[in-house]
Amino acid sequence: MDTALLIEKLNNTHSLNKDEALQLIKQGAQHKNLLFALAQQTAQKSFGRQIFVRGLIEFTNYCKNDCYYCGIRRSNKNAARYRLTQEEILECCRAGYGLGFRTFVLQGGEDYFYSDEDIAAIVRAIKAQHPDCAVTLSIGERSRETYALWKKAGADRYLLRHETADCAHYAKLHPAELSAQNRQNCLYTLKELGYQAGAGFMVGSPYQTAENLADDLMFLQKLRPQMIGIGPFIPHHDTPFKDEPAGSVELTLVLLAVLRLLFPHVLLPATTALGTLAPGGRLLGIKAGANVIMPNLSPQNVRGKYLLYDNKLHTGAEAAEALNELKREVASIGYRIVSARGDYTEEPWTQG
Ligand code: SF4
Repeated sequence: MDTALLIEKLNNTHSLNKDEALQLIKQGAQHKNLLFALAQQTAQKSFGRQIFVRGLIEFTNYCKNDCYYCGIRRSNKNAARYRLTQEEILECCRAGYGLGFRTFVLQGGEDYFYSDEDIAAIVRAIKAQHPDCAVTLSIGERSRETYALWKKAGADRYLLRHETADCAHYAKLHPAELSAQNRQNCLYTLKELGYQAGAGFMVGSPYQTAENLADDLMFLQKLRPQMIGIGPFIPHHDTPFKDEPAGSVELTLVLLAVLRLLFPHVLLPATTALGTLAPGGRLLGIKAGANVIMPNLSPQNVRGKYLLYDNKLHTGAEAAEALNELKREVASIGYRIVSARGDYTEEPWTQG
């Protein structure tokens, strides 16, 4: 089928088979204006011109894992490690609440220094102080019991990028003790437990093929997560992939638009990695159908240490205190940042 026709069909049916996905991955860039226009239209039907913000609190950069692409992998002896206390995390939330954030994302490496009960206590404390806010956890693969404990404590959402749906590709990015299957199982468990679950992948990670990306789109159609985070791969100088080229911004934008057309209501962030690789990258993301931005709420003195990849942005409009700057940027393309929890819903947006 002609690619422009395929894009129209995707816009009407919100589904793709693998051959169609491959065609869009390979040829979508040639039709990017059409893709971006339809993706923006779809995002506006679901969310109006609102952009949801999430306050990102990177509370530990210790990790027991050794993913080959990651700057805070356990083997990186050059990483300056830190952990935040419960009180420091609560302080970030208080500051964020004052700025207008109504979702807090607690992100960290897989750090067993914090017991399951410690995390549950942190979630409870945040919910007690800010009952009108959502809490998102992003702290890796755990057991069903642990996820259930945190859900009961009040956690609303969980981010766990599947990274790549293809088991062989996954094995090229991770040591043998980690498996694509376990990660995918965790995502299904999170959904079953009632979390709003977020999956996602890197674009342009080493050894990735167009077919791998098509498989990612197939996996997402099966899982049907409420959130999807994608960003270009960016190498980190202290990892085995230090000499690998970064992923393509253009292909990331094309995939964002395809994801928006596949999942009209999904919460889709314009990620920091996109902003790091391209000037104004997050605005480009919104123009490709994204509807979420996650500024950094971590304490100033640790922001430079959560270095998943080189040159990661953590100042300027990336910083939560600079919300006004971000509001201006977003307004310059006709959108507005709203102070709302921004939960997943399949209700179409109506002006309230
Ligand atoms: S990608 Fe996540 S799990 Fe892997 S080493 Fe980095 S922080 Fe740890």
